[in-house]
Amino acid sequence: MIPKVDLPEGVGLQTRAVREGLPPTAWGENSEALFLTSSFVHPDAETAARRFANEEEAFVYSRFGNPTVTMMERRLAALEGTGGCIGTASGMAAILMLILGLLKGGDHVVCSQSVFGSTIRLFQDFARFGIETSFVSQTDPAQWQAAMRPNTKLLFAETPSNPLTEVCDIAALAEIARAGGALLAVDNCFCSPALQRPAALGADLIVHSGTKYLDGQGRVVAGAVCGPEALIATKFVPVMRSAGMSLSPFNAWVVLKGLETLAVRMQAQSARALQLAHWLEAQPAVERVYYPGLPSHPQHALAMRQQSGSGGAVVSFVARGARAGAFGVIDATRICSITANLGDTKTTITHPASTSHGRLTEAQRQAAGIVQGMVRVAVGLEDVEDIQADLQRGLAA
Ligand SMILES: *Cc1c(COP(=O)(O)O)cnc(C)c1O
Repeated sequence: MIPKVDLPEGVGLQTRAVREGLPPTAWGENSEALFLTSSFVHPDAETAARRFANEEEAFVYSRFGNPTVTMMERRLAALEGTGGCIGTASGMAAILMLILGLLKGGDHVVCSQSVFGSTIRLFQDFARFGIETSFVSQTDPAQWQAAMRPNTKLLFAETPSNPLTEVCDIAALAEIARAGGALLAVDNCFCSPALQRPAALGADLIVHSGTKYLDGQGRVVAGAVCGPEALIATKFVPVMRSAGMSLSPFNAWVVLKGLETLAVRMQAQSARALQLAHWLEAQPAVERVYYPGLPSHPQHALAMRQQSGSGGAVVSFVARGARAGAFGVIDATRICSITANLGDTKTTITHPASTSHGRLTEAQRQAAGIVQGMVRVAVGLEDVEDIQADLQRGLAA
């Protein structure tokens, strides 16, 4: 039996974000240990046989079990309010794990058309194996309902979307999934459990790119799937054991320590993003601002309900002057990092039409609303006045 941390009954989420994991080793370390070991030693052959037969719970081999990874999984599961969690090598490996663990040829998936580009491609790739995916509106639950088939096994949503910050109604989708005998999975990358807890709204599974806010300082690539303990144990642990998209202990350790500060970072970065969004709305060189925390956002009320009253830390806007206008703003910055990554303490700035959405045709981009003047800012922890001044340089030109 792998022991639990001795915490008083009913402690709060922030306490678990700092304390959940495994008991310390015999050395009494206060910061969690990094177990860089591929395998674990057994006291005798009899014990080894029991452990390999799954008759005794113990760490055997780091492809499917490592104490540092377990600490990260327990801490993230606590924050998401799910019984279980399994760490994966990346966010995309988490989505691959979902497909391999839950679906077979002949099954059908309903997915938002506004999810991460690689997620769309991954679901499309599985058409080769007889798993068909219907892509539907991010914001209209009626389209999800209409796409349901008797063989629909999974609904997949990501909210808010990138870069338009469109919001899915998680509770409405959970209802559609339940009525259709399917599971709802939510990619909770943009809000993180600090702001949005999909399981409390009825989602069955939560997918994470730990690369983003969970690490929070842009250091590692990591991922996870959270869900009911039995589902994780029966559907996903066997896939991990045979397919091996394992999270490295080092990357797990970085995410584990990142989770301790997740809530304070999300609050501080979201507060800065709200201030920046209000400021952008007042700039004559800005045509439009996309941010769920603004009353002008078409789904402001839903977002506030679903995201703990917060808009998150990602703000997009359309600069006057189309592509030249957007490039002018980006190139005039001296602080913001020009990179498509997000979820960092360093503010990042990107031109979605030529980077994350560069492989779409211009017609597809126009239909999706990702115009050439659009700029996305993932707000970090710098002084927000300095980020405003950084954007002002290009907007004033
Ligand atoms: C980055 C990202 C992913 C993929 O995560 P990786 O860790 O890069 O594999 C999935 N979903 C969303 C919303 C993301 O932003």
